[in-house]
Amino acid sequence: MIDFNRPYLTGKETLYIQQAVSNAHLSGNGEFTKRCQLFFEQRYGFKKCLLTTSCTDALEMAAMLCNIQQDDEVIVPSFTFVSSALAFVREGAKIVFADSMKENPNIDAEKIESLITTKTKVIVVVHYAGVACDMDRIMEIAAKHNLIVVEDAAHAIDSYYKGKPLGSIGHLATFSFHETKNISSGEGGMLCINDEHFISRAEIIWEKGTNRAEFFRGEVNKYGWVDKGSSFLPSEITAAFLWAQLEHLDKIQQRRKQLWETYWEHLSQVAHSFSLPQIPDYATNNAHMFYLVCQSLEQRTAFIQLLSKHNIQAVFHYQSLHRSSYYQNKYDSRTLPESDRYTDCLVRLPMYYDLQKEDIVEICKYELIP
Ligand SMILES: *Cc1c(COP(=O)(O)O)cnc(C)c1O
Repeated sequence: MIDFNRPYLTGKETLYIQQAVSNAHLSGNGEFTKRCQLFFEQRYGFKKCLLTTSCTDALEMAAMLCNIQQDDEVIVPSFTFVSSALAFVREGAKIVFADSMKENPNIDAEKIESLITTKTKVIVVVHYAGVACDMDRIMEIAAKHNLIVVEDAAHAIDSYYKGKPLGSIGHLATFSFHETKNISSGEGGMLCINDEHFISRAEIIWEKGTNRAEFFRGEVNKYGWVDKGSSFLPSEITAAFLWAQLEHLDKIQQRRKQLWETYWEHLSQVAHSFSLPQIPDYATNNAHMFYLVCQSLEQRTAFIQLLSKHNIQAVFHYQSLHRSSYYQNKYDSRTLPESDRYTDCLVRLPMYYDLQKEDIVEICKYELIP
């Protein structure tokens, strides 16, 4: 059986968890949390990083920081995970869904401006498969209309736009360390704050609406309830696990990129009835995912079934959020054809550290589908 995903373990995870236990600090914001946060700040130049228990949590923090008021509008791609929109809906936002590009599933920057109204407050972008959205264009539009940009960088660790790390460009950015992502702590996430004026409030929202962080820095002599917030900190057990993974980041990335290239070499030679991922010149590939885009839902279903018959697990991905049972009645009924096309036609092939090149050769044998 070739699974779609298998978690990769560096071998140090339980050692570091033991260390966290002997440090006798198991709640959040201890030594391992600080080490992980510093790692990201130093390596990628994110101004301030806060670990969270998930990317969903980090998005909820971002939505609170954007100070969403009832009926404020937030532009979100329809082809994304629920959390990219849900975090803002919880704060009362109306979601205005944007279509994907023809070339890849990322938000079509050229179509964003037509969606902006006087109520628009935020643009959420998702770097699908770790491939950058056109951030210069998006930041330019945001500056012109005075909007906040949140990068949902859940797929996008160690990937770049014109040499800039993804997650460092928007005012705020969120990462996921869910089991299915390149670097994992089982469940886990991180908020990155690049616009400094959000930092002090982010620390408060992170710590259940209290100014505990200021207190521990000695900036105030007692701490208490000063704002809204929630319990967003992961425990040191999670951070210790994450630290083991971060130590192997380069090794993990190198391996995943080799595997991605192996797929590419086998599939790019001949003409197919499906299309291969397209990476714009401005973007790097972090090998989060290898996907194909079939020509129809029927073709994709047949392909997934064929692979399954040979014990290979291939899976489809997001379902257009504007057509979800939760949102379709709240939606203005504009059609988003590219998002719907990726909903019906995109299929993801197995991709994980321990996947073997021979497995990929085997998978690619079934490329010549009807
Ligand atoms: C995985 C993912 C999330 C959610 O991440 P969690 O850590 O599971 O909350 C959000 N957005 C995108 C684009 C994702 O792929």
